Formats: sequence, C-alpha cells, structure tokens
Amino acid sequence: AGGDLGTFSAAGDWLLGGLLAADTFNDGKSCLSRREAVLYRKALPWKPSSYLVKSLRRYEARHRHCAPYTESYNKTLSLLQNLTEMSAQTPECKYVVWTPRDGLGNRMLSLVSAFLYTLLTGRVLLIDSSKDMADLFCEPIPGSTWLLPPDFPLGRFHTFDRNHPQSYGMLTKNKSAVPGGRIPGVVYLYLAHNYDDDDKAFFCECAGEGSLSLQKIPWMVMKSNQYFVPALFLNPAFEGELRRLFPEKEAVFHHLARYLFHPTNAVWGLITRYYWAYLAKADEQIGIQIRVFNKKTSPFEVVLNQIVNCTLSKKLLPEVMKKHNEKNYNLRGKLAAAAGSVEGGDRKRRPLKAVLLTSLSSGYLEKIKDMYWEHPAAAGGGGEVDVSVHQPSHEEWQQTERGQHDMKALAEMYLLSLSDALVTSGWSTFGYVAQAMGGLRPWILLTPPGKGREPEPACVRALSPEPCFHYPPNFQQCGQGKDKRTWVAPNYVKLCEDTLTGLKLV
Ligand code: GDP
Repeated sequence: AGGDLGTFSAAGDWLLGGLLAADTFNDGKSCLSRREAVLYRKALPWKPSSYLVKSLRRYEARHRHCAPYTESYNKTLSLLQNLTEMSAQTPECKYVVWTPRDGLGNRMLSLVSAFLYTLLTGRVLLIDSSKDMADLFCEPIPGSTWLLPPDFPLGRFHTFDRNHPQSYGMLTKNKSAVPGGRIPGVVYLYLAHNYDDDDKAFFCECAGEGSLSLQKIPWMVMKSNQYFVPALFLNPAFEGELRRLFPEKEAVFHHLARYLFHPTNAVWGLITRYYWAYLAKADEQIGIQIRVFNKKTSPFEVVLNQIVNCTLSKKLLPEVMKKHNEKNYNLRGKLAAAAGSVEGGDRKRRPLKAVLLTSLSSGYLEKIKDMYWEHPAAAGGGGEVDVSVHQPSHEEWQQTERGQHDMKALAEMYLLSLSDALVTSGWSTFGYVAQAMGGLRPWILLTPPGKGREPEPACVRALSPEPCFHYPPNFQQCGQGKDKRTWVAPNYVKLCEDTLTGLKLV
C-alpha cells in the first residue's frame, strides 16, 4: 500500500514477466484489470519461468485454433456421443470442460487445477458458464473465448455426479461399458471432496497411459471443488515437465491465477473504489479473513480472542495502551506539538495501519474497531500508530452463484491479496485464493477444537502461499507406500498446516 500509482515498485511490468502475451492489450478498455492489476500488486520474488511463458503462448495458439465453432472444434464435437476405434486417428483438438461446484474459492481452485491439467496434456479448457463466471472474469485468452457455447449438449452433464455410468471410476470398474479396442467420446472426472477410490485412481493414471487410454478420449468433463495440483506433481509422468514449468513450486497458483483471473470491469470497480477510499493511504495493510464453518464449535468470543491473540503475539497489529489515563497522558505536550506543527504546516503524520477484515458477519469489525478507538495503539519506539478497520461487506450467509454476492466475494479476495500481511482462517478456500494470488504466506487461524476452547497456538505461519489439496487420493493405490508421510517424498509436497489430511506445494 501507500501513495499514488507511481510509487508502486512493480509498475511498468505490464505483461507480468511474460505471463501475459504482448497482444493482450489489444482489447482496449474491455478488461481494465488486465492492464491495471500490475499497479496494485507489490513486486514479488517469483518470475514466471521462460518455459512457462512458452507453454502459455503455445496454449493460446492451441486455444484459438480449437475455439468453439472452429472446424477442429466441430470435428471433435461430432465424436462426443460415439465410441471410436482405438486405431482411429486422435482428433486434433481435445478438451477439458470444467463445470462449477460450490463457493467461489472452491471454483477458482478447481479451475486453476483443470487449466494446469490441460497445459500438461495438450488439451483446451472450456468452462461451463451457465452460472455467473462470465460476470466475474474477463476472457483470459484475448481474441478467443473459454466459455462453452450454450448449444453444447451439456444438459445431461448437469446431472453428472458421483457414480455416473460414464464417470472415470465407473468406466474403469465396469469393464464392459467400453468394449475392447474402443474409446468413449467423453469421460466424466468426478474429483470433488466426496469422491471414492475408483475416481481417485484418476490421479494414478491421469497422464493417460492406463487402462482407459485417457490420452485419446476427446472430451473430459470435470467436476471438482479442490486444488488437485499437488497430485499432478506427485505423478511421475508429469513431474519433469512441472519442474521445468515451475522451478518455484510455491508460486504455481500465484502465476496461473494472475494469468487466468482478470476481474471484469464491474468487479474491478468494486476493488479499485474500495482500495482508493479506504486502503491506499495506509502505510501498511493487514488483511484478516474470518470464516466460521461451525458457530457451535467456533463461537464468536472464542474466534475474537483467537484473532486478537494471533495478531498481537505475531505483532501484526499494535498493542493497545490500556493504562493510558489522563495522568500519564501528556495532553499539554500533545496540544503544543499539534499547535506548533499546524502553524508550521508540517505536522508529522502518525503511521497508519489499515486493517481489511472480511467476514460474513459484522460483529468482529465492531469489536476490533472499538479496541483501537477506545485506546491508543503503541507503535514501536514509544510513539503511537493510527489503526483504521474496514470491512467491505457482511453478507451474513453464503449465497453462492448470486451475481453481486459472488462479485463482492471476488473483490474481497482480491483486496485481501493486496495486503502486506495476511491472517486467514484454516480450511477456507476463500482465504487460500487471497493468499496465493497475493503470493503471501499467511498466519492461519486454526480451527477451534470445540467446547468453547481456543486452539493452541491461535495461529501458525503457512509454509508457502499455495492452497491445500484437502482430500488427496490414497497414493497407495498408485503403487506408493502405505505411510502417508512417504508420499510427500519429493520435498516440495508437504502435509498442510491446517489439516493433516491435506497436501500442499511448498
Ligand atoms: P470456503 O467455503 O471458505 O472454502 O470458500 P468458498 O469461496 O468456496 O465459499 C464461501 C462463499 O461464501 C464465498 O464464495 C462467498 O460467496 C461467501 N463468503 C464467505 N466468506 C465471505 C466473506 O468474507 N465475504 C464475502 N463477500 N463473501 C464470503
């Protein structure tokens, strides 16, 4: 934060180190965020590798070539309902159709995962936009579209859920579903949190050499609410390519999200108006993302104490001077100083810390705001610091896929990602998006254990900005050892900080 646009250190790198193609800005003002985002984000240590940049340019060429209604697209479309001979030529264009599931954080995580999968497998990503995705994000490939055409026969895919006869799990289990020597036109990949072992086995063979010859199947329709990228890194078939694409594993989502997710002008308006009105003047911006999944085990007072304990002990927020009474309050000195500096016209401004708080409810804002209104806040070195506390919305309950609601959710994730330091709530994909987009290693508020107790410690520092893959497959299935800790053998995939069931890149 701080100052006017000119002071941002990253200013000038319009193409984000090559993530964006040089012709990106030919679209005029149709997507302001694509052009302006660089002005808001601090310079980070990670640059996209030249290998990733080349891969993205290749992807763009492929995407344009295979875009909806092109000749190649029409050809592949004709295969959708058919079984083809194994020996037949594989179509030039093959697709992953992403379908939405759950809140916006979940959707963004699975979308990035699906995109990386298409990069690795030479496919093209199209998204089912029947929900509000087009209101939220600009087209990532200028001059083309990633929206699945409305006349695509997706109707029957909407009923697609676990155990669909055409799902990966069912097709591999039920050998007679696809006669020998044939290839189905479509396979459904059900990769949501409650998938079973048969669907999870996709991660053993997702490179395509397994029994189903995935490589050759023209259409994949995917439904997921997870960040399954760590599983791709654990697949020996992809490992080498991924190492070249991402020498810095902790920045995978960071790069891909900045490539894919450009908020539409409507959302960009929400972001920038809020930024300039409430955050830009601060010397430091602290983001606090509060997500309560269970009000019984995480009651208000417990979570509030936890936030205060975490932010004070980690020195993210200043201590308040509670014993600050009139006796030791040097009023005369203050007035004299103020008068002198007013006369002099150069009263030295106290440092300003802006706290950006996001939560579905409003109670936390009032408490934290009061804390810094009722008492002065101590800056290091004996002075005082001003603390302003802001919360853009309190929507009270989750209203997934309701236009303005999702727009505000996106704006808030984005604003959080611009923070200098971030506190997030464990297990929340909303927080994951904010931290990973911003390239920030947050302090994670651990989930309270229940019975009115606070977790101990209140928060832990994340190992990396990457999101957690909550429900990874059992890699024992893929021929790896029984002990979960051994799956993480490559030292860049570790157990998550907020749940030991999960895996993340570090
Ligand atoms: P998760 O449930 O925390 O993993 O995150 P998701 O983003 O997948 O789903 C939660 C949804 O609830 C969001 O997409 C929003 O629609 C809403 N939501 C949760 N927390 C907030 C918040 O702090 N601000 C706003 N505007 N919406 C929120």
